[in-house]
Amino acid sequence: MIFHKGIFDSLSFIDKLSHEEKQELNEAIKRGFEALLPNQNYFTLKLMELCERYGEEDSSFAIMLIDINDLKYINDTLGFETGNQLMIEISRRINDFFGKEAFICRYSWDQFGVALKSGSMKEWEGQAEGLINLFKNDFRIGKYNLIVGINVGMSIYTQDADNAESLLKCSNIALLRSKREGKNRYVFYSSNIGVIDYKHFALRNDLHKSVENIELRVYYQPLVNLSNNDILGAEALIRWQHPNWGMIPPAEFIPIAEETGFIINMGKWLLREVCRDYSHWMARRLKPIKVAVNYSPVQFFEENFVDNILEITEEFGLNPRFLIVELTENVLLKYPEKTIADINKLHESGIQVALDDFGTGYSSLSYLGSLNIDIVKIDRSFIKNAISHPTSEIITRNVIRLVRELKLKICAEGIENYEQLVYLRSLNCYTGQGYLFSKPVPSEKFDMILEEGKCTPAELSNR
Ligand code: C2E
Ligand code: CA
Ligand code: CA
Repeated sequence: MIFHKGIFDSLSFIDKLSHEEKQELNEAIKRGFEALLPNQNYFTLKLMELCERYGEEDSSFAIMLIDINDLKYINDTLGFETGNQLMIEISRRINDFFGKEAFICRYSWDQFGVALKSGSMKEWEGQAEGLINLFKNDFRIGKYNLIVGINVGMSIYTQDADNAESLLKCSNIALLRSKREGKNRYVFYSSNIGVIDYKHFALRNDLHKSVENIELRVYYQPLVNLSNNDILGAEALIRWQHPNWGMIPPAEFIPIAEETGFIINMGKWLLREVCRDYSHWMARRLKPIKVAVNYSPVQFFEENFVDNILEITEEFGLNPRFLIVELTENVLLKYPEKTIADINKLHESGIQVALDDFGTGYSSLSYLGSLNIDIVKIDRSFIKNAISHPTSEIITRNVIRLVRELKLKICAEGIENYEQLVYLRSLNCYTGQGYLFSKPVPSEKFDMILEEGKCTPAELSNR
């Protein structure tokens, strides 16, 4: 047996394990010196035991959850092997730092859990600061020198909670707060961390069940020909109908879905819904429109990004030509080779590519031509400012002119009033979307809009 881990010296819970579980634990700890530490289950078991023991002694202990930032990014860019090697080095560093003072586990793929023995708030703060300092030095992995940021969430028995499950919940909430504050910070749980963090925590916990619980929805916003109000297409936008928190906008849960990797399943679910709706529209002989689907970098950088799309359209017997894939600038700039290859592959299947939110990032026009983009979507902020600020107006006008000179299609986003519409028409910008025409609506409502084939601007129809 190689159990010799500080407060892990009290091994009473191990007596309760079966022979196989003991072996498995032993293996896990052995591997811990190379890569893996005991996992979340053992951590929870250990916490249960500590709660019991410290309850009898009437003393307290603290736990920390350590989140390693950007691991996914490192895996994506430098490869899984580098990511793994990095986690081994990080495990070592954390192990050496705490020594026998703590019980350490690999809490999840990119998180560690640590139980710190009885001490004062000052000591625990000191340990958290020490831990953060530990990450100021880079990690040498193969040919790379990697600087890794962390976030730490902490909670205290019994000040914050008196059982393992609640303690973990408190440190999770503290961790989320820490992440919101920025890299390399630690936060102790406090009951006034507030409802926003609690909501974030709850959403994070519930998101993975949203598909099977049938809580996700697809809304469609019409893409309109600005000169005659014809419907040219729709943008599919996801919503989450949460049983307790109501309708959650994507801005609140997409970042969570990206971080947890759930976005991959979610995106596949969404594309299936889009294909289902599109098949219904076609069966009813409605106008064959284009449907734009948003993809975030995590989705685009999946190895089989294009094949996965084609597989789903095939399931529905649909020609993928009706799809537009919307990507943002940060995708295009990161790995130009993969981006160019994938865009070509999309084009081969007849799928168009739109650059979303143009005007919010670098907005460099230089790569537009070379990357073979079909459509540039001018961000809402551009359209909004163009009317009110003369300088913005000049920029918007020239950007639109340049994009047209590059022979790319333009779509204006967020058209909210008639003045903006008139302005866009004056620039010969003839495709757009916005509340003036329609907010995103559920498919039953979009059916009706599509039946009409036209989408009249609301202000116009009021005149
Ligand atoms: P986006 O792709 O830029 O989508 C347009 C957003 O602008 C939508 O917000 C839409 O409701 C909103 N919008 C449209 N017209 C107007 C207008 O006239 N005025 C104003 N103020 N807003 C308008 P929504 O639906 O909340 O989506 C927010 C973002 O979430 C999207 O921005 C997109 O980046 C992301 N998103 C939505 N659905 C998905 C999805 O299925 N997958 C991924 N990866 N991201 C998604
Ligand atoms: Ca979009
Ligand atoms: Ca956009």
